[in-house]
Amino acid sequence: MKEADVIVLKTIREENQMRIAIDLDGVIWDFQSRFMNLYNQEYNENIQYEDMIRWDFYPKKRWEHIYKRATKQPYKFSLIDIAIPIYMRILNLRHKVSILTHGNYPVLALKDSLEKLGIEVGREYNELIIDHTGTPKTEFDFDIFIDDNPNMINECMIRSQKFLLLYNHPWNKNSVLPKNVIRVYNWSDIICLFFTKELNEHTEGKK
Ligand SMILES: [Mg+2]
Repeated sequence: MKEADVIVLKTIREENQMRIAIDLDGVIWDFQSRFMNLYNQEYNENIQYEDMIRWDFYPKKRWEHIYKRATKQPYKFSLIDIAIPIYMRILNLRHKVSILTHGNYPVLALKDSLEKLGIEVGREYNELIIDHTGTPKTEFDFDIFIDDNPNMINECMIRSQKFLLLYNHPWNKNSVLPKNVIRVYNWSDIICLFFTKELNEHTEGKK
């Protein structure tokens, strides 16, 4: 964690706020479509979204080659859902939202690309953490993770106090989930989960 390339732009802790770490690729922006298009062009293949049924679907060497190209131009990614900036802003008003990625992006280009998509520091999120050490995400100081990486399911089995909202994709759809992992199918699922829980607590408190 100490060696992580951490950019803490603002961190404030307040009571009753949850610290939420949102993944970038496959949760905020549509990494997979851009990657797939570059891959199909380069290797003259016709891979479709539904084909990517494993986390390590692509051959390693090819993956690394295309990954470098894809991450060099973060401004070419589009949002998974056009309303994500609004959803993030709502979450960040109530809780503490960070973006946590292992992605190998140039920092300034990444921040700039997010801004162009309407995702700004201090408004939609408070800190951008780019970790190049491979530290398991659940070792970071967050309560809830929103991520599409099925390897985090095992991390959550070890750390049962951590909570994962697993963003549904073909590469994680067959995973069996423990109690502290919930599958979400879109961003409105995510928002509903947060605010239904709050509403329930509020109602129960009044009984
Ligand atoms: Mg991801």
